Amino acid sequence: MILVIRPDATLAQIEHIVETVKELGYTPHVSRGESRTIVGVIGDETKPQAANFSVIPGVEQVLAIMKPFKLASREFSNADSIVYVGKTRIGGGSLAMIAGPCAVENYETMDIVAKYVKAGGANILRGGAFKPRTSPYAFQGMGEDGLKILQEVGQKYDMPTVTEVMDPRQIDLVCRYADMLQLGARNMQNFDLLKEVGKTRKPILLKRGMSATVKDLLMSAEYILAEGNKDVVLCERGVRSFEDSTRNMLDMSAVPNVKGQSHLPIIVDPSHATGRPDLIPSMCRASVAAGADGVHVEVHNCPEKAMSDGPQALLPHQFLDLMADLRRLAEAMNREFSKTNPATEEVH
Ligand code: PEP
Ligand code: MN
Repeated sequence: MILVIRPDATLAQIEHIVETVKELGYTPHVSRGESRTIVGVIGDETKPQAANFSVIPGVEQVLAIMKPFKLASREFSNADSIVYVGKTRIGGGSLAMIAGPCAVENYETMDIVAKYVKAGGANILRGGAFKPRTSPYAFQGMGEDGLKILQEVGQKYDMPTVTEVMDPRQIDLVCRYADMLQLGARNMQNFDLLKEVGKTRKPILLKRGMSATVKDLLMSAEYILAEGNKDVVLCERGVRSFEDSTRNMLDMSAVPNVKGQSHLPIIVDPSHATGRPDLIPSMCRASVAAGADGVHVEVHNCPEKAMSDGPQALLPHQFLDLMADLRRLAEAMNREFSKTNPATEEVH
């Protein structure tokens, strides 16, 4: 760490700073410039007391040298991580195309949506069985019955599945049916949940919290990695802002921003980020162009009857057009949609 000393700090204050640094078990190095003095502090930045240097009288600013996340950082692993969800490869040039309805509603809807998204090239099927709803009176999801449908339809169309887990008590159940666990925006900082999914061997889709910084997102990934689960895929899904013509504000810069700091794959969810089907295709294209490792899109064959997030669902034909665009873009960027089953991929 570097302590920047206030220009008006007295000599006695600087001596006190140096003594306090030593008392806390660190080694200080004082450097006096013409107008400012700084104190280099050598020692473990993760100790709880490290946060307190800013309150020593005379300290103006504390600059951390190390990143607070370690296992998630580029320094820890320079090569891009690759995460497998079933046979679908995410990262290292392979794009995840995650699609499906917001919620599993019944077998027929899941079946028809899955048929279309598979035909378009989706390689992971989504559908919520436990839904985080703002209102306790809104549809809360089908629970285990929904998980069964998702699994059955995923197997029918040879697509691995992802579904949300909201509570540590649901983990065992969801692990029995799904190939990937989603931690939703509202639970990005549910630290007990992060630790528990970190103990599983399922890949995790970790969505950015609606008021979380990129650093917060990487710190949450660190919780999962620290428990031994290396298979974390991050997801930018927009943050809250003053703009009220879109559901959230899509932070596209999060993609290269995360890539610069972390080896983990990151995908983008323009459905929840914009809440608007007219904006989703262009934001998917922008995501791939920005270097995202995939996109996450909600699709419904009959949005007016959807049990949740109907207004933001793409219709099947819109999804097919989007996938055709994304394929061309991916090719131009020397990347490709990951195949769920290389042997039968071409047979629709
Ligand atoms: C979802 O994927 O259906 C969902 C609720 O997303 P988010 O957590 O990003 O709001
Ligand atoms: Mn949704």
